[in-house]
Amino acid sequence: MRSNVAEYSLIAPPTLTEALQTLADDPRYTPIAGGTELMVALSAGRLPQKHLLSINHFRELRFIDTTAEAISIGSGTTFTDIRKHPVIASDLPLLAQAASWTGSIANQNRGTLGGNIVNASPAADSPPALLAYDATLTLISALGNRTIPYTDFHLSYKKTALRPGELLHSIRVERRFNAYRSYTRKVGTRNAQAISKIAIAALALIDDRTRLIQDIRIGAASLRETPTRCSAAERALLNQPLTPASLPALIAAARTALATEAQPIDDIRSTAKYRAAVAANLLEEFLRGL
Ligand SMILES: Cc1cc2nc3c(=O)[nH]c(=O)nc-3n(C[C@H](O)[C@H](O)[C@H](O)COP(=O)(O)OP(=O)(O)OC[C@H]3O[C@@H](n4cnc5c(N)ncnc54)[C@H](O)[C@@H]3O)c2cc1C
Repeated sequence: MRSNVAEYSLIAPPTLTEALQTLADDPRYTPIAGGTELMVALSAGRLPQKHLLSINHFRELRFIDTTAEAISIGSGTTFTDIRKHPVIASDLPLLAQAASWTGSIANQNRGTLGGNIVNASPAADSPPALLAYDATLTLISALGNRTIPYTDFHLSYKKTALRPGELLHSIRVERRFNAYRSYTRKVGTRNAQAISKIAIAALALIDDRTRLIQDIRIGAASLRETPTRCSAAERALLNQPLTPASLPALIAAARTALATEAQPIDDIRSTAKYRAAVAANLLEEFLRGL
């Protein structure tokens, strides 16, 4: 049943400082950015938060800053901003790809990277890429700022490290992955406008001379109750030689390791069994591509 909108209120403080103070003073307020999660919940009659505080108009949360060392993305940056940015396309192709297959064009125009992260769906599209890139998050509140590794953000199903009164300010990724080979694939009901049943975003650094896997990073969606790095599979592959002769054993070892850490949820979109099987197939496809 649709919600009765008369029961809801929305405020839009003129400055970010005032917004942070309101969030600190009144825990009833929930931030709303693009609203593409919250408004769906409102329409479906399942939005318990009755007091919304808009952060969508803050230009200081919508930016993409690049330096020689890093790319910083404001939490209010839309997927369209990300998809169209040349430095993200060249340096963070996994994120550019995630932005381009998130929802529809309308969704990408409105939905923000911050909303995707904080909403904390295990199936969300940007987290696997950001996990693979070792992103860090800057969180702000009336009390000050703190920066945490993104790997520490998702605590359990839909629970995050965000404290009451805090906003996600920005996401930072170092520009050091150009020599890495990248792979990403999202498996959903169809190619567009589908939430993933399973998705993987992966990077590998291979020594051209020795063929050793010097670094490997595999982020996954829908493989556990939170977006996750596949640490066991990464350990099975790190420092191993990647040659035609070693490939079958390497694939077998990676599949076995992934099975130990895959604990997908069973839900309306797919079964745990299907998700675990397809994740292993994607991992194999990634390794064969290397
Ligand atoms: C038709 C449709 C298709 C979709 N397809 C996809 C898809 O393919 N892949 C995918 O990953 N998602 C998809 N989504 C979900 C959604 O569009 C994304 O998750 C989007 O990134 C949410 O961003 P938002 O700004 O709209 O979030 P909002 O709805 O504004 O907020 C979401 C949550 O994040 C919190 N929040 C937002 N910004 C901040 C901040 N800066 N600090 C603290 N908390 C914050 C809010 O309080 C809320 O809890 C789809 C949604 C729709 C309606």
